[in-house]
Amino acid sequence: MDLNQKITGFDLWHLKLPVVSARDHGIGRVSGSCEIVVLRLTSEGGSEGYGEASPWSVFTGTPEASYAALDRYIRPLVVGRSLADRAAILSDAAKIVAHCTEAKAALETALLDLTGRVAGVPVWSLIGGKCRDTIPLSCSIANPDFDADIDLLARLREDGVRLIKLKTGFKDHAFDVMRLERIARDFPEFRVRVDYNQGLEIEQAVAQVLDVAQFKPDFIEQPVRYHHFDMMAQLRKLIDVPLLADESVFGPEDMVRAAREGICDGVSVKIMKSGGLTRGQSVARIAAANGLTAYGGDMFEAGIAHLAGTHMIAATPEITLGCEFYQASYFLEEDILETPFPVRAGHVVVPDTPGLGIKPDPDKLSHYAVRKSEAG
Ligand SMILES: [Mg+2]
Repeated sequence: MDLNQKITGFDLWHLKLPVVSARDHGIGRVSGSCEIVVLRLTSEGGSEGYGEASPWSVFTGTPEASYAALDRYIRPLVVGRSLADRAAILSDAAKIVAHCTEAKAALETALLDLTGRVAGVPVWSLIGGKCRDTIPLSCSIANPDFDADIDLLARLREDGVRLIKLKTGFKDHAFDVMRLERIARDFPEFRVRVDYNQGLEIEQAVAQVLDVAQFKPDFIEQPVRYHHFDMMAQLRKLIDVPLLADESVFGPEDMVRAAREGICDGVSVKIMKSGGLTRGQSVARIAAANGLTAYGGDMFEAGIAHLAGTHMIAATPEITLGCEFYQASYFLEEDILETPFPVRAGHVVVPDTPGLGIKPDPDKLSHYAVRKSEAG
């Protein structure tokens, strides 16, 4: 094990991954494909580490911005540096380009994967050790064709999944209520969470959120636009189910403000918003210190980002509400990992092998690439 070895390779792929259905969220639709950027770091000893940036243009940013942040601005900070300098590299990357949190998440993931492979230890051991072996999986119900989601619900039930998140606020309130009633009647096995993804206008929000709260979901997430902190705080006082913040809270700095202004009972922690695993842990810890809960959210991700989130949650006891790493299993036509993302009986299984535990399949990276840079 030599953590003083230098990073010599920095390769990028911009991938376009076909998906099996359309998904509507309050702020936009994803259909046809989703786009991610994969980063591979290589050490002078020949070890490799992978990271993934999974942006969404209406939420966090674009794949073009992630690619440029990594290729143009972050690459010169990384190549030639020692693996032992991870904290310094991440600190420099945070300063060299504003925002681009997905690119910074990809960087930290790849550094941790590479370090874990060189050291022979899993990523969770590098960020605090493990507090759980499995994580309850939540799958989102977001198809504009609800009949197709009925089929998905039957499949999820068969697979042992018991958490679902109903995406609301993209069509009309009657559609949301109809689906809540139908799920309660025909799929009572599921615990239901509701996520508006900012889909409600201010003048609609009180009536619709109060109505949906009567179904007693585990929580209601981000009914209004991210900057409406006052409205979030007002809604929180009106309902007797927990209100979660997602788009309002990207990193620890937002979490401090969210707690101070009382906008939520919990937060969706995502490495793509926070800018990495350790900053995601900070979000969860600030939430917990303020008496708030935390959930392991994600973007439209493939298996590498799912694995990074899994290791983060495995090492973060404050994230108690499960995770939503379902895309690799239920949304992508084909994931990019060599072996399937590990899900068993409705739970994500935390890998115990070095690094992230699973590598991407190089043939799939080539097959789905719309742009690549393997200059090293
Ligand atoms: Mg959300």
